[in-house]
Amino acid sequence: MEFPNFIGGNWEQTSDSVANVNPSDVSDILGHAAQAPLQHVERAIDAANTAAPVWAASTPQQRFDVLDFVGSEILARKEELGTLLSREEGKTLAEGIGEAARAGQIFKFFAGEALRQRGDRLASVRPGVEVDVTRSPVGVVGLITPWNFPIAIPAWKVAPALAFGNAVILKPAALVPGCAHAIAEILSRSGLPEGVFNLVMGKGSEVGPALIDSPKVNAISFTGSVGTGKGIAAACGLRLKKVQLEMGGKNPMVVLDDADLDIAVDTCLNGAFFSTGQRCTASSRFVVTEGIYQRFVASLSEKTAALRVGNALDAATQMGPVVDARQLQQNLDYVDIARSEGGTVSGGQRLNGATEGFYMAPALVTETVNAMRINREEVFGPVASVIRVKDYDEALMVANDTEFGLSSGICTTSLKYASHFKANAQAGMVMVNLPTAGVDYHVPFGGSKGSSFGSREQGSYACEFYTTVKTAYTLP
Ligand code: NAD
Repeated sequence: MEFPNFIGGNWEQTSDSVANVNPSDVSDILGHAAQAPLQHVERAIDAANTAAPVWAASTPQQRFDVLDFVGSEILARKEELGTLLSREEGKTLAEGIGEAARAGQIFKFFAGEALRQRGDRLASVRPGVEVDVTRSPVGVVGLITPWNFPIAIPAWKVAPALAFGNAVILKPAALVPGCAHAIAEILSRSGLPEGVFNLVMGKGSEVGPALIDSPKVNAISFTGSVGTGKGIAAACGLRLKKVQLEMGGKNPMVVLDDADLDIAVDTCLNGAFFSTGQRCTASSRFVVTEGIYQRFVASLSEKTAALRVGNALDAATQMGPVVDARQLQQNLDYVDIARSEGGTVSGGQRLNGATEGFYMAPALVTETVNAMRINREEVFGPVASVIRVKDYDEALMVANDTEFGLSSGICTTSLKYASHFKANAQAGMVMVNLPTAGVDYHVPFGGSKGSSFGSREQGSYACEFYTTVKTAYTLP
């Protein structure tokens, strides 16, 4: 199958293409994705600029109809799209279908947002003058997305961008063109005027800067790694371009002596290893107090070792493969680093599956301290470590001792500690007796410190990024 680009309402092949490889079975090639040369990016930018005023003038009903159509179709096809997702990214089929359904729900939510108009009419401090505060679209937005949520992250950027009247250029990650193409295909039949939505696949280091450097792109929303994000922030800052970044994490899960052990272990297992640990909100540091430490480690080690790793499409699989050879090597390198720093590692070895894929056993590293590299740098794989602490105060200090601040959790039955943690955890999202990963779609998503930059994504808060505020004064 070919995954062409979608520019100005037309499907476009390119002379270069890249194979879309199934990480569960490298002999399974899903297809070939277009690789846009710079002239194609330019054309997408021009098409979006031509279409932007048309879509900015659309009615809330038109926007609702488009987004509701897309959401309904994704929901109706969630098994098929979830299977495609699991095949190209490697999360289990249940996770893939769940993510596809989430994308449908996001489009439905933003269909509603298109109708929920915002604005104020206020009295002026001057007699006879009227004041209107309204929101306008930003214009043309460039959306740059990572590979780990190939349908949900494009959905949570594309849907609000369109709901608030913007024209879009989506640049998905090279590893997952199938899901991006599927969204584009549905959007191509949704009634959107041509050029309002454009899909440009190609090298991140070429297409990204072409979008960021263009004076005809008004805003950039990026999700991905810290290194790439910092470069984008600097480039956008130079150009005074609106930018929003969602990046990495080193998310802690605190387990206190008074925690329900079963809840704590299941919460940690899910947070660290589901979706192969390839979630920006994955728990990678378990900060555990002395009284529960031995029981917690014994139970979590047993359940971690029992996780069934295998082909994402096999119904018995609980943890799919790593996304590609490069990420697998990075994970294995971090397991070695943890060992060389003095950590005790169980699991973490490369595995052979029935098919040739990027399989590894989930790794649990004990006997670590927070200063080790394994506790400071994002691995982005099924690797989690345990840090023993004396009490709650030390646990909070260790949890916050990181440059990141995306998600932070605590397992406790104490209302006092739960309340204190919610107020004092330095993170954009805080979980009590719930995994650090796994969020709702109708409320804001994002982090603090080095994890995020700019206004929040998702829920009604998405309006902040995708609109600009205008204050109008009238003397009738
Ligand atoms: P990445 O930074 O390598 O790539 C992200 C996107 O940026 C891709 O589309 C890529 O092609 C593009 N890109 C690459 N170079 C670019 C450049 N110079 N200019 C502009 N764009 C460029 O990240 P990844 O490996 O795809 O994703 C993994 C990372 O994403 C992890 O760090 C993870 O924590 C993070 N992530 C964060 C969130 C969040 O919401 N905070 C969610 C998912 C993933």
